Amino acid sequence: MRYRRERYYKAQLRQPNGKPGELGEPVYLNEEEQTKADSLFSKETFNVIVSNKIAMDRTLRDARPNECKSQTYPTKLPNASVVIVFCNEAPSALLRTVHSVVNRSPPNYLHEVILVDDASERPEVGPELDEYVSRVWPDGLVKIIRSKERLGLIRGKMKGARAATGDVLIFLDAHCEATFMWIEPILTRISQDRTIVICPMIDSISDKTLQYFYGGGVAVGGFTWSLHFTWRGVPEREMKTRKSSADPVRSPTMAGGLFAVDRSYFFELGGYDPGMDVWGGENLEISFRTWMCGGSLEFLPCSRVGHIFRAAHPYSFLQKDTHGLNSKRLAEVWMDDYKRLYYIHRSDLMDKDAGDYSDRVQLRKRLNCKSFKWYLDNVYPEKFILDEGVRAYGMVQNPATGLCLDTLGKDEKSQFNLGVFSCQGGKSSSEVFSYTKTNELRREDLCVDAIGRADVSVTLTFCHGHKGNQEWIYDKATKQIKHYTLTVCLDARDLKNSDTVKLQQCDDSSITQKWTLEKELDMN
Ligand code: UDP
Ligand code: MN
Repeated sequence: MRYRRERYYKAQLRQPNGKPGELGEPVYLNEEEQTKADSLFSKETFNVIVSNKIAMDRTLRDARPNECKSQTYPTKLPNASVVIVFCNEAPSALLRTVHSVVNRSPPNYLHEVILVDDASERPEVGPELDEYVSRVWPDGLVKIIRSKERLGLIRGKMKGARAATGDVLIFLDAHCEATFMWIEPILTRISQDRTIVICPMIDSISDKTLQYFYGGGVAVGGFTWSLHFTWRGVPEREMKTRKSSADPVRSPTMAGGLFAVDRSYFFELGGYDPGMDVWGGENLEISFRTWMCGGSLEFLPCSRVGHIFRAAHPYSFLQKDTHGLNSKRLAEVWMDDYKRLYYIHRSDLMDKDAGDYSDRVQLRKRLNCKSFKWYLDNVYPEKFILDEGVRAYGMVQNPATGLCLDTLGKDEKSQFNLGVFSCQGGKSSSEVFSYTKTNELRREDLCVDAIGRADVSVTLTFCHGHKGNQEWIYDKATKQIKHYTLTVCLDARDLKNSDTVKLQQCDDSSITQKWTLEKELDMN
């Protein structure tokens, strides 16, 4: 322990040394290096040349909001096992994660770091990694477990968790950087209540320059009915219960990679679903399960960990839609009748075999968990339920052209043009819309929006709930969709697949202005 303490104090004294990337600054390459980085980008899925240039123990600024800086924490806290699973990750990013954890966690709180190698297919994380780890951390603080068979991240984390012996489990991805005082708030909160599952606030590290983006706000997790994770602003009701912006924020869901949980509570709650493969869905599964079975989920604004957000993955998905199938398992086990909403988006999975999940159904019974409706009503009351209390939902179709309103698979995190595509007969998630009683034409949390005049593009933008640009009147007689304030109509004239839908002067004889709503519930 003395050795560890000395090492920790030495790490605290480390000053920025002017080398690339210190303090989380971005690193830019010369042309030759950048060409090399570009050619490696598809394999590594981030800029590995930049990563290799930056010190393994680079300095970072204090990433916490000011309100956190006056917080104090107990001196006696439970200790943690940090579990990091990795498959084909670049060694420099993996090791920077480990260095950041060891250097920024007081030694009495860090019981161990467990690296789980999920059948990586690159030699640099083989014996070379063993050698590095035993040279740099000769006291056995950092352990490596290897799996010959590909486990996927879910079973990989379970393997790490079973090997761990600390009081608290903290899971991290293999391309993170823990910042100053990251662990104290986590351990403090869990010591107050072992049924709270904790997420640090995840800051973004650029996949191109490895710049650490400070000053990221506080957000919470949501989900879409196609069972993808989304970030959302902190809801009003949650804001009201907090005295300081340093206080924890309750969140309906977690992103998945980075979280902490009391080790025995993790297993009491059923760990993870071992029937889930590779990647995807486990984050929503553990979120729903935690809330429904008596626990809760919180994000801590004062605990900040950077994560390299990548557009692709450096490993294979084994030719399976693992996100889809894993999500099917969670929908079947946890979502009761609301699983219908998943199948509206994934009708292709209705008859697909997602394996045996009877153990998980048993688990839910044994833990006496609440219903999914309870979860929606109490934990995520703002969640839009696309087929409840609406006038109509499903495809919005122009019979004359056979075109439907379609998101064209755009990333639904930001504003984009609303497109048209040939109607897929309910087989395409990107054609599912709802027409609400407040006259919104919605795609879950996004609303069809138009500003200006005829002939302008129509967009999908976050719903603001104040009508205006987002109010549409469906005329049952003429089947036109009229923009309420602009008195122009949605028109499919001259459009082909993947075009943006337009507004034109309303003309009730125009067949390209006639739209049918697939499932009408209550058009009054
Ligand atoms: N991972 C793994 N086995 C897999 C898939 C992922 O060990 O089959 C690891 C991966 O190396 C990473 C973590 O799980 O450390 C999370 O994966 P990733 O970062 O690709 O997910 P994302 O952050 O994109 O959701
Ligand atoms: Mn990741």
